[in-house]
Amino acid sequence: MEGNQINGQVVTEDELLALGYRKYYGEELDIFYHQAICAHVGNCVRGDSAVFEVGRKPWIIADNGQSTAHSIEVIASCPSGALKWRRHENTEEAG
Ligand code: SF4
Repeated sequence: MEGNQINGQVVTEDELLALGYRKYYGEELDIFYHQAICAHVGNCVRGDSAVFEVGRKPWIIADNGQSTAHSIEVIASCPSGALKWRRHENTEEAG
């Protein structure tokens, strides 16, 4: 699933927040998570447990990722759409 889109459209931060996603700030990449959509499959935790760790507060630390590209890959492996990402500034619509 495309981690920066909903229904084939690049999604904005305002749209994500309005839909009920919670934002986890990162220097390059913000990660958004929607608990009610999450299917608890665990692809995210298996993909990068430094970023996604159940039981930790906050459970998502965007800046712990190996790389922005890897975090985007892990988010794309989320089958439910509960995870989304937004890049900052000039790279905003890339990916
Ligand atoms: S991969 Fe997506 S659906 Fe699975 S636990 Fe993580 S956020 Fe939830």
